[in-house]
Amino acid sequence: MKIAVDAGHGSETPGKRTPPLPVNIDFNKDGKIDVKKGGSIREHTANTGVANYLIKELKRCGFDTVQTGFDDENPYNDNDTPLVERQGVIKNAKCDYSVCIHFNASGDGSAFTAPEGLGIYIHDKYNNESEKFAQTVLKYLVKGTVQVNRGITKQALAMCNCNSLGVKGAILTELAFMTNQREAVELMGSEDYWKESAREICMGICEYTGKNYVEEIIVPTKTITKSSSKDDIRWLQNKLNSVLAGESFIPLAVNGIYDSKVRIAVLIYWEKRGWNKDGAKDGWSAGTGTIDALK
Ligand SMILES: [Zn+2]
Repeated sequence: MKIAVDAGHGSETPGKRTPPLPVNIDFNKDGKIDVKKGGSIREHTANTGVANYLIKELKRCGFDTVQTGFDDENPYNDNDTPLVERQGVIKNAKCDYSVCIHFNASGDGSAFTAPEGLGIYIHDKYNNESEKFAQTVLKYLVKGTVQVNRGITKQALAMCNCNSLGVKGAILTELAFMTNQREAVELMGSEDYWKESAREICMGICEYTGKNYVEEIIVPTKTITKSSSKDDIRWLQNKLNSVLAGESFIPLAVNGIYDSKVRIAVLIYWEKRGWNKDGAKDGWSAGTGTIDALK
């Protein structure tokens, strides 16, 4: 099963960017400003961010992928490949389905406007299975971040034309409005949202094509305590739930909080393994030995 992922436009495409931003933007919250207050987020940057995550998601779930409009993680050096060229690459690669990533706009782009939300486009004429495919993906996209659901729109767009692309279904997602201030700052300007969108699109593709969605598992690398990341604590809670299941053990809430219930579950697990016999450790930290064993 081969999926084409297209990141709309190019790095230098005129227009296709947010109006001047009211705040600094730090895509991945690493403390380094990516777009300064008064500047604009280019649509291609966010499109490529989502597209890269989507490729990773699809590969993890066992799909082959073909990418057009972007070649790597760097969104600042991509030419705006003509649409016929993108279509040709997808058709020649004999893809099954195609997904094109965009952010929407309204007005002349000089100032923020009210329209907001997410939607999916399919071709009005050459759409094969696209409507059903779009419905399945949309069902997942509307989860997570709360947004206006603009539904499915039929339009004669090149990247939705199943005949030109040689695919069974083709969708073009408009994930948020770059001209809506809230969506531009909080969604288009956030790697968390890029990742969430990619994950949801992949879940929809998995459901539609009958594949199991494979969760991303990041194994913690250092001792887990109350002050660890929620992801690390959730990983611990999930693992403890699965190894301690089946006895009188009441499953832990997988909430990323290292509370006394987690502490007791850690102590029970150690006891099962014959560890901590002298009771020297209080269960308020799960070290690398525990992580390795749970892994
Ligand atoms: Zn676009």
